[in-house]
This record gives sequence, C-alpha cells and structure tokens, in this order.
Amino acid sequence: MSNKIPTRIYLSEDEMPKSWYNLRAIMKDKPDPMLHPGTLQPVTAADLAPVFCNAVIEQELDESNLLVPIPDEIQDFYRAYRPSPLIRAYYLEKALGTPAEIYYKFEGTNTSGSHKLNSAGPQAFYAKKDGLTSLTTETGAGQWGTAMSMACAFYDLKLIVYMVKISSEQKPYRKALMESYGANLIPSPSNTTESGKKILAGDPNTGGSLGCAISEAIETAVKTDKCRYVLGSVLNHVLLHQTVIGQEAKIALDKFGIKPDIIIGCAGGGSNLGGLIAPFMGDKIEGKANARFIAVEPASCPSFTRGRYAYDFGDTAQTTPLIRMMTLGSGYMPSPNHAGGLRYHGMNSTLAKLFKDGLLEAKAEVQTDVFDAAIQFMKTEGILPAPESSHAIKAAIDEANECKKTGKKKVILFGLSGTGYFDMTAYTSYNNKTMNDQVPSDADLEKGFASIPAIPQG
Ligand SMILES: *Cc1c(COP(=O)(O)O)cnc(C)c1O
Repeated sequence: MSNKIPTRIYLSEDEMPKSWYNLRAIMKDKPDPMLHPGTLQPVTAADLAPVFCNAVIEQELDESNLLVPIPDEIQDFYRAYRPSPLIRAYYLEKALGTPAEIYYKFEGTNTSGSHKLNSAGPQAFYAKKDGLTSLTTETGAGQWGTAMSMACAFYDLKLIVYMVKISSEQKPYRKALMESYGANLIPSPSNTTESGKKILAGDPNTGGSLGCAISEAIETAVKTDKCRYVLGSVLNHVLLHQTVIGQEAKIALDKFGIKPDIIIGCAGGGSNLGGLIAPFMGDKIEGKANARFIAVEPASCPSFTRGRYAYDFGDTAQTTPLIRMMTLGSGYMPSPNHAGGLRYHGMNSTLAKLFKDGLLEAKAEVQTDVFDAAIQFMKTEGILPAPESSHAIKAAIDEANECKKTGKKKVILFGLSGTGYFDMTAYTSYNNKTMNDQVPSDADLEKGFASIPAIPQG
C-alpha cells in the first residue's frame, strides 16, 4: 500500500508510557465518592483494607494526581507483551468504500487474549509487595481469570477464580488454560461460600453472573489469611492501569499528526473503554481536542442506555461499597443466552459521570448484528475478534458508513480489546443461526431496578 501511514504503527520500548493517566484529576466535576454501605459516608482507605491491596486503595481514592508513575517492575512486566499494535484498517476501509480513516488498538496479542493483563500484572505485583500469599477473583467470560492466572504464576501467588457458571460450561478451554497456569477454578454460584449457597437456594439452575461471582470471591478473600480480592473491571484503579492503551495509541497517532474525531470502545464495566479514551478525553476537557466518544454495550445488558444513575452495590450479595454509576441493579440477571462477556449490571463511576455530563455517548447493539460486524472484520482485517470487542467494531463500521453517506473523511479509532479464540461456541451458534437476540423488557429491567438500595441519591 502506497499510503505513507503504515498499516501497523509500532512504538519502541522507550516510547512506552512511564505513568498511568488518572482522568479524574483533570475532570472539573468529579465522580461522586464511593460510600460505606453502613454509614453512607465516603469510604476511607481503612474501610477498603480488608479487601484490597494498599497501593490499589491509594489509586482508587486518588483524584488529584494526573500522572501516576508506573513502578519499574511493572514497566518491565508490560515490556513482555507491549506495546500493542495500533493498526490502520486499510482493508476494512476498502471493503466499506468509506472515506473515513479507521484505526484500532489491538490488545489481544498476549496469551490471555485481552487487555485484562494490563491490570492483572500490577495487581499481582502489589499483592506480592504487601506480603500476601493468595488472591481471589471472579471471571465472567474468562479473560480476567486467565490474565490473573498468568500474573499470579509470574509473581508466585495462589489464585482462586470464581467463574460464572454459564461461561465455565461454554468455555472449557478457558478453564484448562487457567488451571495450566496454576489457578484453582470454581464455577459460581458454588457451595463453597455463604453467598453462593444463598444464591443457589434462590435459583438452583442459575447460570450465574459476575455480581454473584464477585460476592463469592470477596467472601473468601475476607475469610482467608494473607489473602485479598482483585477485580478486573469497574473500579477506577483498573481503569487507571488500562490507560497504557490510550496513551500508547495517542503517542503512535501523534507521530503522524493524526487526531481522532471519533473514539469507540466496548463497555462491560468500562475498563478498556476508559483506558482507551482517558488521554483523549483529558484533551477534550482541556479544550485541546473535540473528539466524540462512544461506549458500545450489549442490548441484553444495557447499563448506559437503559440503566439508572444511582448509588448501587457492585455485587449481588450487596457487600461492596456503594458506587454511583449507571446501573441495572445488582439483582439484574442478564440473559444466559448472551454470548459476550459484557454482562455486568453496572458501569465504572468515572465513565458514568462523563456520560451524565454529556461528554461520552453510548449505544446498545444486539448480538447477531455484533457478530455480522465481527465476520466482516475478520474477513477483511484477518483478526478473529472477541465478541465483546466486536461491539466496538459494529459501531466503527456504522460511523464509517455514515461518512460514506455524508462524504466526510473522519478519523475513527476503536479499541479491539481481545481475540475470540475461546469464543468459538458463540461463533458456532452464530454460524448455525441458533443465536438469538434477547433484549430485556421494561418489566425485566424493573426487577433489577428494585434491587437498587433505597438511599438518598443526592
Ligand atoms: C473483559 C473484557 C471486556 C469488558 O470489560 P471492560 O472492563 O468493559 O473493558 C471487553 N473486551 C474483552 C476482550 C474483555 O476481555
């Protein structure tokens, strides 16, 4: 191709970011603080200490330091699989016949297959530094559990992974991969915890949810000596770690003077989207750029587009601090038919605030449309995308088609958060035409909303 912008824009190791980018520090209106569910006062570091590692707590509560230095050891960890490629989608552009320029940042080149390793590494490092011997976590589609299994193997920590039951059945190879890295895998809900037993008593056939698995993992962490809990999405420290994505993308684009007009990411709990958009959103808040930002979520779990902006629990057993977010209610159970991993009831508080303030747009897509986009993408660009990431592909294709209609040459950047190698069950159901699009009715959503705690929402 004769265009002067290379198909893959790589960074050298020296060009990789040395700090994480704390978006909250640059926001004029900050997200509301996390509240202690008993006192309804903002949580303190001491409140979080039984559950999380020290450095992570500090990061979670920090809304004033814009640049948070990445410890040298974590920079070394990142160098094992980063920088990730930023790719110009020349072939997709050509197939679409669009005047738009499309770029994507591909986070699926490490064995865990997604961006999740960007936070798993730091969280395991901090746990080791605190003298812990084990960690617990939950995993939905399996990417986070795999990433934590890799990071715990690297730092020699034991790991218990509560895996959403429906996913553990759909993805046996995920389980095998985590076990190969040495993790102890338990399908959730399980009878190893009080919260799991309670959920099973209510519905013995439940496919589980991330909210249930989180309850089980926290319970086990709190009950076990030298053990803490790690979370792979939703919280602000996870978004912080993921800002290596957006910073690398920005450094690469800046080399060629490219400024994205539209930045798109899929959103489950918001970490890859938040990490991708952070430095670009910072520029927008400072008036240096005026990009549009689009979150894409599944129509089966529409936290942004049909949820409420409210203080809610992060887990089904209602044990976590209260987070002001876009939420469907911690009791919301997404359809077990849904193939992707974007099945969480809530959404990161910073992104929820940006959405509320009109800085971030959101749209919901049904899964067959998402897989149509995935197929179009893999046939042109060659990469097998994760179903989650394909939500972003769908929106990017729509924006590129819009450019074709209007003749406007926009620059589109989207996050390709992972690969779909472990999602062939979902691809099979798409190919067989047995995949269906379950969209919750208003009555379904009301059931979830009823679980939002009745506290003053300010
Ligand atoms: C976990 C995951 C997501 C969703 O999580 P976010 O925190 O919203 O980023 C998206 N894509 C892939 C590939 C994932 O593994």
